[in-house]
Amino acid sequence: MYLMQRIFEVDPWNVVTHKLDKENKRLQESLTSLGNGYMGMRGNFEEEYTGDSLPGIYLAGIWYPDKTRVGWWKNGYPKYFGKVINAVNFIKMNFLINGSQLDLDKDSISDFTLDLNMKDATLTRSFIVDKSGSKIKFNFVRFLSVAQKELSVQKVSFENFSNEKVDIKVISSLDADVKNEDANYDEHFWNVLDITKNSLIAETKPNDFGTPRFTSGMQVNYVTDLPETDTNITDLETSTTFEKVLESKEIGTIEKRVIVLTSRDYQDIDDLRDAMEGISAKVAKVAYKDLYCAHENVWAERWNQSDIKIDGDTDAQQGMRFNLFGLFTTYSGEDSRLNIGPKGFTGEKYGGATYWDTEAFCIPVYLGISKPEVSRNLLMYRYNQLQGAYINAQQQGLKGALFPMVTFNGIECHNEWEITFEEIHRNGDIAFAIYNYTRYTGDKSFVLNEGSKILTEMSRFWADRVHFSKRNGEYMIHGVTGPDEYENNVDNNWYTNFLAKWTLKYTLQILGEVSKDQFAKLAVSDAEMKQWQDIVDKMYLPYDEDLGIFVQHDGFLDKDLEPVSAIPKDQLPINQHWSWDKILRSPYIKQGDVLQGIWDFIDDFTEREKKRNFDFYEPLTVHESSLSPAIHSVLAADLHYEEKAVALYERTARLDLDNYNNDTADGLHITSMTGGWLAMVQGFAGMRVHDDGSLSYKPFLPKKWNSYSFRQVFRGRVIEVAVDSDGPHFNLISGEPIQIEVNNEPLMLK
Ligand code: BGC
Repeated sequence: MYLMQRIFEVDPWNVVTHKLDKENKRLQESLTSLGNGYMGMRGNFEEEYTGDSLPGIYLAGIWYPDKTRVGWWKNGYPKYFGKVINAVNFIKMNFLINGSQLDLDKDSISDFTLDLNMKDATLTRSFIVDKSGSKIKFNFVRFLSVAQKELSVQKVSFENFSNEKVDIKVISSLDADVKNEDANYDEHFWNVLDITKNSLIAETKPNDFGTPRFTSGMQVNYVTDLPETDTNITDLETSTTFEKVLESKEIGTIEKRVIVLTSRDYQDIDDLRDAMEGISAKVAKVAYKDLYCAHENVWAERWNQSDIKIDGDTDAQQGMRFNLFGLFTTYSGEDSRLNIGPKGFTGEKYGGATYWDTEAFCIPVYLGISKPEVSRNLLMYRYNQLQGAYINAQQQGLKGALFPMVTFNGIECHNEWEITFEEIHRNGDIAFAIYNYTRYTGDKSFVLNEGSKILTEMSRFWADRVHFSKRNGEYMIHGVTGPDEYENNVDNNWYTNFLAKWTLKYTLQILGEVSKDQFAKLAVSDAEMKQWQDIVDKMYLPYDEDLGIFVQHDGFLDKDLEPVSAIPKDQLPINQHWSWDKILRSPYIKQGDVLQGIWDFIDDFTEREKKRNFDFYEPLTVHESSLSPAIHSVLAADLHYEEKAVALYERTARLDLDNYNNDTADGLHITSMTGGWLAMVQGFAGMRVHDDGSLSYKPFLPKKWNSYSFRQVFRGRVIEVAVDSDGPHFNLISGEPIQIEVNNEPLMLK
C-alpha cells in the first residue's frame, strides 16, 4: 500500500513544524536540506544529537570510488562504485549549559520550531531548553549563500530565560572525523594536510582505481559578543571555545562564517590557502544583514522568474514550490563540471552521481525556469566527458562513445550489469536533450559544434551495437534494459531501437548543417553515413497490428497481462514485497518505457497512436520510479483524461513532503522534483515548443483548483501563464513581443 506520511505543516512558502520528531528525525533532516549548487547539507543539528540521525554535508563534484561488493567479475564490468562523501563537518557547534552538553535527544525542551523558508533559503530552529537548573531560549539560523557560493553562514543566539545567571560555553569546530553510512570499507575518507586554529585542509585518501583525489579547505571566522576562552587542535579537528556567564534576560550571539574551497577550483594547496584566507577576510568585514540581503536578492530573482501559484490548494502550492526549491538548491548552472544527482545534496543514496535523469527529466524543466546557459552547461558536461564515453564503449568492445548510466567523470561507475551494460538508451536520451535544447532556445551553436561531435561518436556506437538480422532483413538491438528496469536483457526494446534510429537520423541531418571545417574535423566517411542511413531505413521497431501499439520488447505480449489493479493492495509497492525474480517475470512496468518515447516525441504521434499505447501500457505501470507519474500525467492531459492527469500529478507533486515512497528519510528525490513542473506546464497548460520554434498551449484547470499560474523563460522572454475559471490569460513580463498559439488560435503577446 502506498501510505502518506506528513510531518510538516502545510504552508505556501515554509516547511515548518513545531514538533521535534525523534522517530522521524532522518525524514525531518531530508526535508530541511539546504544547498546552493556548490555545496549542500541535510537539516542536521549543529550540536551533538545522540538520537538517530543521518549526517550529510556534501560538496559538489567531490567523490570517492568505493569497491563494489561482488566477489565475481565479468569483462567490461565497472571496477568501482562512485559515491558522494561527507565533507569535513564545518557547521559543528556544541553548547554547554552550566557545563552540561545540550542534546535535544535527551533534554527537556518546549516551544520547538523548525522552519525551512523556501523564499529565502534559510533554515531556522528555535526552542527553550530546561537544563541544569536554567532555562535558555535558543535560536539558530543558517544559509548557504547563493551570492558567494563558498560561504556558509550560521547565526545562533541564546537568551537566559531564568532568574539566575547561566554559564554558556560554545565549542565550535571544523571536524574531519566524518564517515558515510553506506561506506563499504575504510570508513574515513579524509586525511588532514594542514590544521590551524581557524582552518582545516584535508585530502581524500588514496584509492586503488586511479581516480582523482580531492582537497577541500575550510576557513572560519566568528562574530560574537562572547569572549574566546580556549583553542583545541587534534589530528582531525580544530575547535574554539567561547564562554560567557549570562545574566537573567541577557542574550548572547555567535555567528559562524565558513569559507569552503576545493581543489576543483584551486589545485595548488598554497593557492587554495591564499584564496580561502582572502575570501574569508573579505567576508569578515561584511555585516550579517548584507550577507543575508545579497543571498536573498538572488532567490527573489529566481522566484520572480519561475514561481508557480496555485489558488485553492495549499497542499499543491507547497509541493510545487518545494520541488522548484529542490532543483534550485541542487544545480545553479554556472559550472559545466557539475550535474544533478538524483538525491542532490540531501543523502548518500545514488552516490550523488549523474544519471540519465538529467537529460530526460531535468533539462526540459531547466529550459523553462532558467537562462539557456544553465541547460547548455549540462550538455557541456557530457561533451567534456567524451573521453570517458570512448572508454565505456571500448570496454564493451564497441566503437564510438557510450555515455555512462551513472558517473562522476564520464566513466561508468555503477555496479549492476543490467544497468551499466544494458541500459544503453541513455545514449539516445543525451542526443534527444541536444535536440530539445536547440528546439527550445533556438541556439544552434551547441549542436553545430560540440553537439555534432557527441552525436557523431554516439552514432558510431549505435552503428556498431546494432546487428542485421538476415532472416528479417532488419537491424536489431539485443540484450538491453529499457527505462523499465523491471525487465532485463530483453531484445528489441522499442524505446531503445527508436532512439537509436532517431539519433542516427538526427546526426545525419546535423552533419548536413555543420560548417565545412567542423565536418572535416568530425571525419565521418561516406561509408559510415551510408551505413547509418541504412540502419535508419531498416531498423526493426516492434509493433502489434491487432492492438495498434508499439511493443515494449520482443515477447512482452506473451506475458500474463493482468493490470496493476489486479495486484492485492497489500503487495504494493511490488519492489518491497516481491522477489526480484517474480518482478522480472511479471508484466508490470516500473516506469514509462514505450510511453517515455511517446512523451519525448509527443508531436510526432497521432492521437490514435497515443491513445492506444497509453490505454495499453499505463494500466500495467506501477510507477515505482518516482520519475514515472509526471510524464504519464502529461500524456493523460494530452489525451484529455483530465482526472487521470491530476491523479498522476498528485503522486509526484508531494512525493517527498508526504513521503509516498517511504524512503525520503534517505534523501529527497531531486530529479523527480521536475515532475510537478512537467505535469503542470506540459500537462495542464499543454505547453509545447515545436520544431519551427513556435510555442503553443492548450490549458485546462484541474477541478479542485480556483486558478494556477506560472512563469516561463522562453527565448529571452519571461511569459506568465494564468489559468482560472474564465480560461487562460497570458502576459509578457519581459522581452520582445511574441506570437504564440492558444487552443490552435494565434495570440500576440506584447
Ligand atoms: C530509475 C532510473 C533512474 C534512477 C535514479 C531508478 O529508480 O529507475 O530511471 O535513473 O532511479 O533516479
